[in-house]
Amino acid sequence: GRLGTNGMGNWVGGKVGRVPAGIGKRRMRIVVTGGAGFVGSHLVDKLIARGDDVIVIDNFFTGRKENVAHHFGNPRFELIRHDVVEPILLEVDQIYHLACPASPVHYKYNPVKTIKTNVMGTLNMLGLAKRIGARFLLTSTSEVYGDPLEHPQKETYWGHVNPIGVRSCYDEGKRTAETLTMDYHRGADVEVRIARIFNTYGPRMCLDDGRVVSNFVAQAIRKEPMTVYGDGKQTRSFQYVSDLVDGLMALMEGEHIGPFNLGNPGEFTMLELAEVVKETIDPSASIMFKENTADDPHKRKPDISKAKELLNWQPKVSLRDGLPLMVSDFRNRILNQDEGKAH
Ligand code: NAD
Ligand code: UDP
Ligand code: UDP
Repeated sequence: GRLGTNGMGNWVGGKVGRVPAGIGKRRMRIVVTGGAGFVGSHLVDKLIARGDDVIVIDNFFTGRKENVAHHFGNPRFELIRHDVVEPILLEVDQIYHLACPASPVHYKYNPVKTIKTNVMGTLNMLGLAKRIGARFLLTSTSEVYGDPLEHPQKETYWGHVNPIGVRSCYDEGKRTAETLTMDYHRGADVEVRIARIFNTYGPRMCLDDGRVVSNFVAQAIRKEPMTVYGDGKQTRSFQYVSDLVDGLMALMEGEHIGPFNLGNPGEFTMLELAEVVKETIDPSASIMFKENTADDPHKRKPDISKAKELLNWQPKVSLRDGLPLMVSDFRNRILNQDEGKAH
């Protein structure tokens, strides 16, 4: 193998990521792309707490410095403003590749950029993993199942995706990213992991990112009607962010490539979700119907038996327990926003 540094900054030969099991808990150096975003910043918190060195790569398209600002000054934390569409040279043990806008509003804003991020960005991170022998984890999505004909969705389902629709830049982008990941595994022997993440919510989501949980919560706090798209009978399954972070780390540390569904199997219609938000935030909250967007999947619910069995993972936080944890963060930020406007 080539020369690289291990997480301690010492020069070592060979594949630095492949420390045989049992050598002990060496401190690792870990890259998190998209680490200034919603999920990424929670992952970074947990990795730093575990004692690892973390390098965040982010272009701040949807991420914010504030999400990781509490680590500034920590010598084990590094933040690099960089776009993953461009190559980068680093020496690390593990790569969590999250960089990609996740909200439909954000990923449709510049669809070609979304495809570039998914394809060229993933290619660059896989090229990096290959060069330095790092383990690579891709955060794919339940959107690879499209508007599913199988319910709930198992990992063996190949999906039902419109290749020419407005969501395709994301769905097909992630499907290509999965393909690249498997080709680098088969062709270049890169150690890879694939997670298929289902709708996730929690503190630090962008206030106005257009996703349904953040919309309803922000609307209820601002005393605006919650906007239900279509008839509100479409379903989603909502996972609290700490459960996802636990799942991603179990996947990275485990022996199985995947893909693994990571989601909460509790299934809610958008009308039921509005009801839970109403109970949690404001009993007088109202709803208003709006036209739905194109190609909106009718239902989605993960079958998580594979992750339960092989990763010994399952979500712990129900929607009713998780929502309040997000509400206090949203209240504070909305308050600050309003104060900002008043000055
Ligand atoms: P997010 O938008 O909050 O975070 C994405 C981060 O990636 C942001 O910090 C953004 O600035 C950064 N980024 C985007 N393009 C980049 C580029 N070209 N170069 C460098 N950085 C870039 O979204 P999130 O919810 O935290 O999602 C994280 C990952 O999880 C994404 O890959 C997303 O597809 C996946 N995912 C999330 C969900 C969910 O419900 N949150 C569901 C399925 C999959
Ligand atoms: N790459 C990178 N950092 C590295 C190694 C590779 O960004 O440390 C990029 C490289 O620029 C290329 C991509 O990853 O665009 C794929 O690299 P690979 O070596 O697999 O393919 P090649 O360079 O031969 O096309
Ligand atoms: N949705 C809604 N009101 C909103 C935003 C979204 O009813 O203000 C619906 C949307 O039509 C979809 C579901 O909520 O059926 C989930 O949308 P989101 O954008 O959160 O995630 P998706 O699963 O579509 O990626």
